[in-house]
Amino acid sequence: MTTDRQPLALPKGQHKVLLHSCCAPCSGEVMEAMQASGIDFTIFFYNPNIHPRKEYELRKNENIRFAEKFGIPFVDADYDKDHWFARAKGMENEPERGIRCSMCFDMRFERTALYAHEHDFPVITSSLGISRWKNMQQINDCGQRAAEKYPDLLYWDYNWRKAGGSARMIEISKREQFYQQEYCGCAYSLRDTNQHREQNGRAPIRLGVMYYGQEAADQKR
Ligand code: SF4
Repeated sequence: MTTDRQPLALPKGQHKVLLHSCCAPCSGEVMEAMQASGIDFTIFFYNPNIHPRKEYELRKNENIRFAEKFGIPFVDADYDKDHWFARAKGMENEPERGIRCSMCFDMRFERTALYAHEHDFPVITSSLGISRWKNMQQINDCGQRAAEKYPDLLYWDYNWRKAGGSARMIEISKREQFYQQEYCGCAYSLRDTNQHREQNGRAPIRLGVMYYGQEAADQKR
């Protein structure tokens, strides 16, 4: 495990946190950083945005595989995709980082906050912000909004990209050979990514094919 990290501290002296995880590559560094600081955490996997089901299962199972490796509790929440599509209605053609994404983050944080409230977690956070493709302020606003619904709940807005976090995220993903998703997650991001690829003469995305570190592994064979 990577060790060159600064010790982390939860807000207001708390020691237990519910970590919303979007996928193994994004949460790998977050999980290892928390473990290195002795933070008691549980993973909450609630991502009804991911489409289709095959991709959802791939991403979830990679996350479970890594959690089991370190004995981290993993909460497998609902795949209530019909609810997600209902909330996305009218936003089908919004660009990434727009209002559809705010809805998507809100929905995931709302369920995380509810679970935290019902199961005595004083703090919530998410791996969503570690990706450089995401707008961190947008994510933090959504996380804060969800936590504010409960007087006993705090949202931890730690910037997982800093102090080498982004580099370690890639390093861990390669070491663990995590499944490498090629689009954000929803049906509309899959459509838009494929359109962009087509415009640039690239083949459409094939689900379940790309894994981090695969090239290096192939070269060793
Ligand atoms: S692009 Fe990503 S964040 Fe935005 S709505 Fe789709 S899955 Fe959610």
